[in-house]
Parts: sequence; structure tokens; C-alpha cells
Amino acid sequence: MKKFLFFLIFPFILAACAPFQDNTPESHSFFAMGTYMKITAYGKNSETVFLHAEKEIRRLDTLLSAENPDSEISRLSKEGKLIPSEDTARLISLAESWNRSTGGTFDISLAPISKLWGFPHGPYHVPAETERTEALDKTGMKYISHNEETGEYFLKKGCALDLGGMAKGTAAEKAADILKAAGIKNALLDLGGNIKVIGTKPGGRPWHIALRHPDDTDKTAGTLSVSDTSIVTSGDYERYFMAKGRRYHHIFDPHTGQPVQNGLRAVTVICKDSEKADILSTALFVMGEKKAALFWKEHRGEFQMILFRNDNTLMITPDLQKIFTSELPVVLIP
Ligand code: ADP
Ligand code: MG
Repeated sequence: MKKFLFFLIFPFILAACAPFQDNTPESHSFFAMGTYMKITAYGKNSETVFLHAEKEIRRLDTLLSAENPDSEISRLSKEGKLIPSEDTARLISLAESWNRSTGGTFDISLAPISKLWGFPHGPYHVPAETERTEALDKTGMKYISHNEETGEYFLKKGCALDLGGMAKGTAAEKAADILKAAGIKNALLDLGGNIKVIGTKPGGRPWHIALRHPDDTDKTAGTLSVSDTSIVTSGDYERYFMAKGRRYHHIFDPHTGQPVQNGLRAVTVICKDSEKADILSTALFVMGEKKAALFWKEHRGEFQMILFRNDNTLMITPDLQKIFTSELPVVLIP
């Protein structure tokens, strides 16, 4: 009987001694950077941490937004010169270096092109070739320069910058740092589809992240089981308009000034650093299947990727085999 009582009571003693672990998630949703964001975390009293993370994302947005006329990016675009904050300066330099290492495919100077087509809010318009070449003349990273000593940045008159291809990645990193500094060990940040996960789900189980199917919000393209990483997708289905039966979307080929059309519908990048994942998902989408595969080979080990082709087949990097399931045909990138 004594033995029986011991086994009955022992689990309760163990539970009382175990470090506190709360398995109930708390979430916080808000609208920022032109998209819905949701942070989910496990642990008590996450509310103040959530507000702190939201505040940081809003602070970044007021520096970086191309839509807010008072942001540093808008002021540099309008006035042609500015001494930016450390954050903005770092991001411009980062964009310059990624522009070089991605063969010019990642390009924050395409704002005159996006604007010509009517992005982000319309009215949309398919421009004539002359309009396109005129706008293309106002793009190019060579038009951005800065003075190391004074910290002043310069942009050629008529040019404009747009950090829409990287800002959410930066926001995810900064917000995750805030959560981690507050002791949160298990969290999921969904910043408009830019996913960052901290740790695992409580109990060590991986997070299951479903990837959206480009044609159908009710279907998935597959599911990733991950921990401590970022998953960022760029695709032709987030922002687009239709004209004469054709789809014109918001990611542009810097050489032509046209929405990218290269046989890919979407590119998902899986990589610890969300900022890098965001930049790469845009760049690899612009590169297309062949160049993206070559780029991955040159940077093997730094990131994994899923290419969604327009024939509804997927190409994935081999390491994803263990953590990715899909009902669609999947081919490994050799
Ligand atoms: P989303 O913003 O939907 O998450 P992306 O991260 O791919 O998708 O960013 C697309 C945005 O990046 C566009 O809306 C535009 O602001 C900007 N952009 C478009 N083409 C390029 C490009 N070639 N390089 C860098 N940024 C781009
Ligand atoms: Mg991006």
C-alpha cells in the first residue's frame, strides 16, 4: 500500500519541483509594414514583451517605409541627401553588398519602376516600353553613395529607394531579439508570411509551418517541421493585378523593369537569419531556377530553399527531405 501511495504521489512531487513551464500560448496581432503580423509565445506575462516587439517594428517602419513621406528612406529619395540613423545606414550598406553578391538581382533602387506599374496600392498600369526605359534610367545602385566621414548618404535626383524586399526580415530579427532577451524560449513570429521561430514548441516538438499554395489559400504547397530558424517566401501571388488575362506582380527584374516571369511562382528560403532569408527569397525568385540552383551550390550550408515552379512541381535542396512533406511532385536540386 505504501508503495502504491508513493507511485501515486511521486508524479505530483516531480511536477511541483520541475521548473515552471507554461504550455499555453499567448498571441499578439497588429498591422504594420503594410501587413498583418502575429507573434505567438509560450510563457506567462508575454504582453509587455509583445508590445515592446511591436514598438520596435513600428520604429523600423517609420525609418524605412517608402510609403511614409517622413521616413528616412522617403526623405533621402526626395531630398537626395541625408544623414540616416544607424539602422537605415546599415540596411542600405547591406543592400549594396547583397546587390553585388546576387548579380544585381536584389535591388532597392527599383522604386521608380514599382511606382510606374502602380505598386503598392494602384492605380495599376501596364507601361509602354518608353515609359519603362525612362523609369529604368532612374534605377541602379550606382546612384547611391555616401561619405564615410560625415555619414551623409546621397541619391541621384529622380531616383528613389524601396526596402520592401528586406524590411520584414530585419523586423523579424529585431523582434525575436527582444523576445529572447525577455527570456522567451519558444515563439513563432509571423510578419505577413515572413516566419521566424524561436526554439521548438514546448516539450521539444518542432514547429509545423505550412507553405501557402500560390493558387489557393485553402491548399498548402507543403509543410516544414523546423526549430530555431526563419522561413521566408517571395512569390507572384502576394501583390498583383490582372490585365488582359495576364498577371503582373510586385517583384521586378532590374534589367527589364518588368515583373519577373521565369517559370517560378514562388521561392521559399529556410535560414537562421530572417534578414538574409528575406533578401535571398526576393533575389532567388528574380534569378529563376537555374541561377538560383547555382547560387545555392556556391553558398551550400548557408540556407535551404524550395522553388515552386509554374507547373505545380517543387524543387528542394536535399537537406529538406527530412523536414519537408508535400503532396505535390518534388524534385531534389542536384
Ligand atoms: P513580400 O514583400 O511580399 O514579402 P518580397 O520580400 O519578395 O515579398 O519583397 C517584394 C518587395 O520588394 C516589392 O514589393 C518591392 O517593394 C521590392 N522589390 C521588388 N523587386 C525587387 C528586387 N528585384 N530587389 C529588391 N526588392 C525588390
Ligand atoms: Mg524578400
